Amino acid sequence: MIDLHCHSNISDGLLSPAEVVRLAHANGCTLIALTDHDHTGGLAEARAEAQKCGIRLINGVEISVTWRKRTVHIVGLDFDDGNEDLQKLLAGVRKGRLKRLEAIAAKLEKRGISGAYEGALALAANPEMVSRTHVAEFLINAGHVRNKQQAFTKYLGDGKPASVPHEWAGLAEAVAAVNGAGGLAVIAHPMRYGFSATAKRNLFEEFKAAGGAAIEVHSGNSDKNDRLNYALLAERYGLLASAGSDFHRQGDYSGGILGACPELPGNCKPVWDFFQTA
Ligand code: AMP
Ligand code: MN
Ligand code: MN
Ligand code: MN
Repeated sequence: MIDLHCHSNISDGLLSPAEVVRLAHANGCTLIALTDHDHTGGLAEARAEAQKCGIRLINGVEISVTWRKRTVHIVGLDFDDGNEDLQKLLAGVRKGRLKRLEAIAAKLEKRGISGAYEGALALAANPEMVSRTHVAEFLINAGHVRNKQQAFTKYLGDGKPASVPHEWAGLAEAVAAVNGAGGLAVIAHPMRYGFSATAKRNLFEEFKAAGGAAIEVHSGNSDKNDRLNYALLAERYGLLASAGSDFHRQGDYSGGILGACPELPGNCKPVWDFFQTA
């Protein structure tokens, strides 16, 4: 049982890094990567807990990338989290979040929703990591939407009234930073971007040319069809296969159970066969 993509309250998850590791272990997981957005600050706590539980923990991070004006997420796995260039890149990516929150709150204000700035910040354990997830939670708690999905379709999703275009890291830059730190770069949840077949081809080709290693063939609640499709694409582009729940909290929109990813199709080359960390 493996899970190579999940979040703690270091970014937009609910549980602390130690609680994430404990829950994964309780769910029967034997190999986990904690992949908080743009931050590796939870890895030390997760590692200590993993040693206590006897579960194998791999360093992870999910880097926000802007590719052709769209946001794409690149997961880094099994890298040296002390690498200065990688940490510099992550610090740069984190920097814009508070300003973006101001802009999102101003747009919500125009729609008659006030208090989003303070409301979202109050929900973030780490203010510099305040995320659209926290704004969504504020909107739910204040009764403006029923659930997280609705918060994104009504207000926060790309092109919606409170969306604020944001420039994250470059694709090649993020891949190079992960590789430079001795890790493997993975395209997160390729089934969730709504890209055309052509856009996907361009993304996979550029990613591979930049030194990218793998794509998530399974993410969250994706189904068997998704797995078969993305296993074929991984094979076509010479990429390894990864799998992760993208767990943020129990009962969340993507529906993944922490620590429990289904088996990958037989034509996949698992990314975990290439990990160097014991
Ligand atoms: P941010 O990095 O602040 O732009 O927030 C992105 C986060 O919002 C993602 O990591 C997901 O956790 C969540 N998210 C993005 N799109 C959706 C969606 N359509 N429905 C629910 N959650 C979403
Ligand atoms: Mn998230
Ligand atoms: Mn993501
Ligand atoms: Mn994620």
